[in-house]
Amino acid sequence: MEAGELVQLLRQAVDLANQGIVVCDSEGKVVLRNARAREMVNAREGDALADRAVEAALERALAGSQHEETLDLYSPTRHTLEIRSYPLGDTRPPLGAVALVDDVSELRRLEAVRRDFVANLSHELKTPLGALSLLAETLEGEDDPEVVARLTGRLGAEARRLSRMVDDLLDLSRIEAGATGTLVPVSLAAVMDEALEGFHEPAAARGIKLHVSPPAEDLSVLASRRDLVSAVANLIDNAISYSEPGGTVYLSAGRLGERACLWVRDEGIGIPKRDQERIFERFYRVDRARSRWTGGTGLGLAIVRHVAAYHGGDVSVQSVEGEGSTFTLSLKLLVFEEDGPPRGGCGDD
Ligand code: ADP
Repeated sequence: MEAGELVQLLRQAVDLANQGIVVCDSEGKVVLRNARAREMVNAREGDALADRAVEAALERALAGSQHEETLDLYSPTRHTLEIRSYPLGDTRPPLGAVALVDDVSELRRLEAVRRDFVANLSHELKTPLGALSLLAETLEGEDDPEVVARLTGRLGAEARRLSRMVDDLLDLSRIEAGATGTLVPVSLAAVMDEALEGFHEPAAARGIKLHVSPPAEDLSVLASRRDLVSAVANLIDNAISYSEPGGTVYLSAGRLGERACLWVRDEGIGIPKRDQERIFERFYRVDRARSRWTGGTGLGLAIVRHVAAYHGGDVSVQSVEGEGSTFTLSLKLLVFEEDGPPRGGCGDD
């Protein structure tokens, strides 16, 4: 192969790399800049800084030493570049130098999310664990059967909350990892029935009525039945928990164009406007004390949002403080065409 052809091949190959690559000759003149480097260090504002940093890194490498630095840029958007440079050739001074540029913004963001999650989780687990050890200590020296019964009851409730939290966390990580099993056609009416199971008694005990309007037509979605039932049950559980005695919780479903929608409406305490987007975040609660009293884990709506997302849908809320909330779970409708396969899987658009 001729030298010219080899250069052409090498140029094409480095253009495919996901890392920015800039090579200069012994004079510091740039002789190669691959596609990714051109993208990262182009005419955008702020990238002049990146350009200068790459130049400086190449100069240092030409002086004979390896160099590594991290550059935070704030314009036009915040991003972080890692720049490493090396001398090339075995001679002194070197024949040239190379600078490798990595955009590590996404990596940094994920690291921050993970750090926050671990910090939040430790805090969330510490609270019930602290309560458990305090209750156990108090029980040790207690003889009064009434007090013992009360403390044991609270101990059980804290232990159950802890165990629910671990179950929710396991569910969340399974769903986030995409380990959802096969999606099958599921009827919304059946999901509503199944999700409601187990709520009739606790609702009645709190003086809350349950009102169900099944869809007028047979609506089906392609779903993991277990996850969809658990998402709807979470919404019903919240609607009951955040309602006052005498209120009604309405569960209904219907078709909006190509979407199947499921609504859970309550006449409860409502959610302030500023919190309405954040309640879908892990561990976010509007009122910590109330959530603790209802035995909440702060993970329910995060699970609902993930379940909706992998079914090609979403969940939203409309709420007025003191009047109530309506949660809408919108999913892609499965349409059965005569003599054809069902349409409306998460993959089709
Ligand atoms: P929790 O286990 O605390 O209920 P969720 O993730 O299910 O956690 O909900 C997050 C927060 O959103 C709750 O702590 C509560 O403040 C608020 N919330 C959820 N559903 C409702 C509702 N139907 N009415 C009022 N507030 C609600």
